[in-house]
Amino acid sequence: MSGQVLILTAGMEPHRVVPWQKAINMLFLGKVEVLEEYDEVLYRSVTITIRMPAVVRLVRVFRGIKRAVKFSRINVFTRDKFTCQYCGEKRKMRELNYDHVVPRHMGGRTTWENIVTSCYPCNARKRNRTPEMAGMTLLSLPSKPRTLPITVHLNFAGDIPEVWSSYVYWNAAMTEGEDP
Ligand SMILES: [Zn+2]
Repeated sequence: MSGQVLILTAGMEPHRVVPWQKAINMLFLGKVEVLEEYDEVLYRSVTITIRMPAVVRLVRVFRGIKRAVKFSRINVFTRDKFTCQYCGEKRKMRELNYDHVVPRHMGGRTTWENIVTSCYPCNARKRNRTPEMAGMTLLSLPSKPRTLPITVHLNFAGDIPEVWSSYVYWNAAMTEGEDP
């Protein structure tokens, strides 16, 4: 049993992973509601059975200090949903690299607005050219994301509990354990 609980934001985006004790604490404080449970029973009486939560959702919109999303390889891939922004193919993290839309030698910077996820074949085809020069089209204009479901990746090592599967979409990345 993993004992790990996936917390979703009020908007159902994966937010972070915490030990079940912490999730129970949040539950009793009225901060989360339980969406999925494990089979393990934590407490049983005549009138009540409490099972270990597996997926919980924050009840209120998170209004904590807004931390800027850090620019990193994994965060670029997460923003782009592990999909090559040229051919649209979703790939594993090791099959992706990141591409300077405007190449560095042409003054392109390493920023959210100029970096996209690219597969190796597309990267090789584009070479050190702009998409226009290479006759390629970007699926979407890169921009700095306001939030990202990245904490799960950073905090969670190990297999993803089955019961989480409908709530996470970056399984491949989570299990590969690669860091930026
Ligand atoms: Zn591609």
